[in-house]
Parts: sequence; C-alpha cells; structure tokens
Amino acid sequence: MSFVKSAPSFRLERQPLDLRFRRAVLAARTWETPTYVRVRLEGDDLRGFTSLGSDDHMRLFFPGDGVDDLDAMRQAPSREYTPLAWDAEAGWLDVEFAVHGDQGVAAPWAASAPLGSMIGVGGPRGSMVVTGRPDGWFLAGDETAVPAIRRFAGLMDDAAVGRILIEVTDAAHELPVVTPPGVGVSFVHRGAAFPGTVLAEALDGLPASERPDGDVFGFVAAEQGIVKSGRRLLLERWALASDQVVVKGYWKSGEAEYHAPH
Ligand SMILES: Cc1cc2nc3c(=O)[nH]c(=O)nc-3n(C[C@H](O)[C@H](O)[C@H](O)COP(=O)(O)OP(=O)(O)OC[C@H]3O[C@@H](n4cnc5c(N)ncnc54)[C@H](O)[C@@H]3O)c2cc1C
Repeated sequence: MSFVKSAPSFRLERQPLDLRFRRAVLAARTWETPTYVRVRLEGDDLRGFTSLGSDDHMRLFFPGDGVDDLDAMRQAPSREYTPLAWDAEAGWLDVEFAVHGDQGVAAPWAASAPLGSMIGVGGPRGSMVVTGRPDGWFLAGDETAVPAIRRFAGLMDDAAVGRILIEVTDAAHELPVVTPPGVGVSFVHRGAAFPGTVLAEALDGLPASERPDGDVFGFVAAEQGIVKSGRRLLLERWALASDQVVVKGYWKSGEAEYHAPH
C-alpha cells in the first residue's frame, strides 16, 4: 500500500514589497505596563503603508532633534520593529516597544521623546504570509515578539487551536493577547533571571505528546539564546516542517543594533 501525503493545510509564502522610506511624527504614547509602550506615528507619508505578514519588520530611524532632511534621516541610527496596526487612508501606524532601560536608541525614544518628534520608517521590504489555515498554532516569545504574536492571533478563526507562551518579568508585566477559546495564552516570569532562560526551560519541558495535531505553524522569537530550544522543540521533538516554522533571535544581550539572520 502506498501513502500519498495530502497537501499541507497552510504555507508560509514570501511576498516582496517595494521598499519605501517614510517620514512620520510621534503622535501619541500609551503605556501598557511600566516597561511596554505603544506609540502612534502619524504623517502623510504613512498613507498607503502596508504590511502583509504578521512578523514583518520595518526599520525605524531615529534622527534626533531638528533633522528632517531625507538623506540625513537615512543616516540616522535605526532599529527593527514590527508594524502592529495602521490605517493606510488616515496615515497612522502603531508600534509597540519593550522599554528595556536607558541603553540604546529606540527604547529611550519610545519612552520619552517629546510628542511631535520626527522618525523615519523604512519598509517592510518583504513579508512571510500564512496562506491557508494551520491545523494548530504554537507561538512563543518575549515582549519584543508580542506585536507579532498579537498579529498572528488576529489571523486565527474561532475554531483555531493552539498555545501561546510569553516570557515577561512578572505578573505586573503580562501583556494580554486576544485569542479564540481553543488557543490558551500562558506567561512565564523571568524575575531576575537572564532574559530567555525561563522561556527556554519551558520550551525544553514540553514533551512530544503536547504537539498540536496536524500541520502546525510554529513561531519562537526572543533573546538570541532562545533559538536552540525553539529549534529543538519545533523541529526535533515535534518534527514540524522546517518551512512551516520561524525561530529567530529578535535581540542579543550585550549587543546594540543586533541584526537577526533572515
Ligand atoms: C524582526 C524583528 C522585529 C522586532 N520587533 C520588535 C517590536 O515590535 N518591539 C520591540 O520592542 N522590539 C522588537 N524587536 C527587537 C528590537 O529590534 C531590539 O530590542 C533592539 O535592539 C532595540 O533597540 P534599542 O536601540 O532600544 O537598543 P540597542 O541599542 O539595540 O541595544 C542596547 C542594549 O540594550 C540591549 N537590549 C536590546 N533590546 C533589549 C530588550 N528587549 N531587553 C533587554 N535588553 C535589550 C542590547 O543587548 C544592548 O546591550 C524586533 C527585532 C527583530 C529582529
């Protein structure tokens, strides 16, 4: 007897986008926890903005005071962020920032730049789009992955099944994700532990028997050290298809402007 594998229930499709550079200003700031802030960027350039993939990234440019010349802005320090929500007609874009202290460029800007401050938005330049319907979902990450996780959750239909696991500092820093009833969201608390280690332990502790059935979309993103545990779980223990899985370091401890391998 021969077995013919049926087509997968979904695919991750790469879709290119024309790379655009846009100028915007900081229009509003909403703190969700003491270390996580949502900002609204506004500007005519944001009309027509689009982001097809839930884990798309764009490059935000932070030019500092008084710079609004396009070329100068392109030379400014930049960091990668996920577009959370936008209105392509009205010309606004919401972005969420993990505020990890005084270090760096992006987090301090998000926390304290005056309203009206200028910012450059480059991209997204391409997207990974979930086409079809995953039989199951497994999403895990730290605060930096919450915008992508929230966007993936927005793709789920009412009958979706799966699990979301998020590492934050403690109960006061938990970030809710709206999901259908079949997708549970749980948090692990790092306390004073090195970022990612508590999440890694949780991933390492998930046995093969907890694999959701069928074609599962797996997404894991956090401090770079998470990559090993993410791959061990998704690719080795759960044997998910490598082209249905995204495991990425979104930042690296001790390294400014970390570039995740694509
Ligand atoms: C594809 C992609 C999408 C991303 N989307 C988001 C997003 O939507 N929201 C978001 O908050 N981040 C996101 N990140 C992570 C973000 O790009 C990094 O955290 C970035 O380094 C922050 O820049 P910075 O200028 O604040 O700090 P940097 O100047 O880059 O770093 C300064 C110091 O802070 C440390 N550091 C950086 N980030 C953190 C952190 N989160 N916690 C603790 N220490 C840190 C660095 O190790 C370094 O020692 C994303 C990253 C990638 C690759």
